[in-house]
Amino acid sequence: MILLISSRNAHKIREIQAILGRPGLEIRSVADFPDLPDVEEDSDTFVGNALKKARELARASGLWTIADDSGLEVDVLEGEPGVMSARYAGEHGRDSANNEKLLRKLDGVTNRGAQFHSAVALVSPDGREWVAEGICRGTLLTEGRGTGGFGYDPLFVPDGYDKTFAELGSEVKNRISHRARALAEAKRTFPLE
Ligand code: IMP
Repeated sequence: MILLISSRNAHKIREIQAILGRPGLEIRSVADFPDLPDVEEDSDTFVGNALKKARELARASGLWTIADDSGLEVDVLEGEPGVMSARYAGEHGRDSANNEKLLRKLDGVTNRGAQFHSAVALVSPDGREWVAEGICRGTLLTEGRGTGGFGYDPLFVPDGYDKTFAELGSEVKNRISHRARALAEAKRTFPLE
């Protein structure tokens, strides 16, 4: 069985492979298929974006396809930046600008609760669909700490820890993160055995 992963992000591909991999499952990414379309993430939910990517790529490739979408939801901002996490400050992928914008919005705010949220979708070649989600709750600092990870990691201290995701290192993060939890649920519920 071949499983297509919608991401080009080597870190995510490794993480999915580590959790869902098994003998007989051949994992490929869209980087191996240059003719596949780019899918726009224009849904207002993580599940909507993950399903849209998995559906369109399964249809175009004829393969079992897995896709994910994730981001940060801040309690007092009613779930912002949410699906806009990657492009919160405008340009896609500018982590430092996104973090600065978030800190400005939370200036003087004492309730700093937030959660990372991940949705993973699987679509079969004949159009059947499965979804798994994972959440990691924590608190946002008033300035960044640590050099590991990416995105909002330097600001986020997961519940039960006193270090940020950027300080904890990938071994701990990959055990407790939203993505790890969504993939653990996917391993239990997706028909990939
Ligand atoms: P995507 O799921 O790759 O589209 O990620 C969306 C955005 O959410 C990223 O660009 C980050 O800003 C944020 N994000 C998602 N997961 C994480 C994480 O594990 N740490 C920090 N930021 C994250």
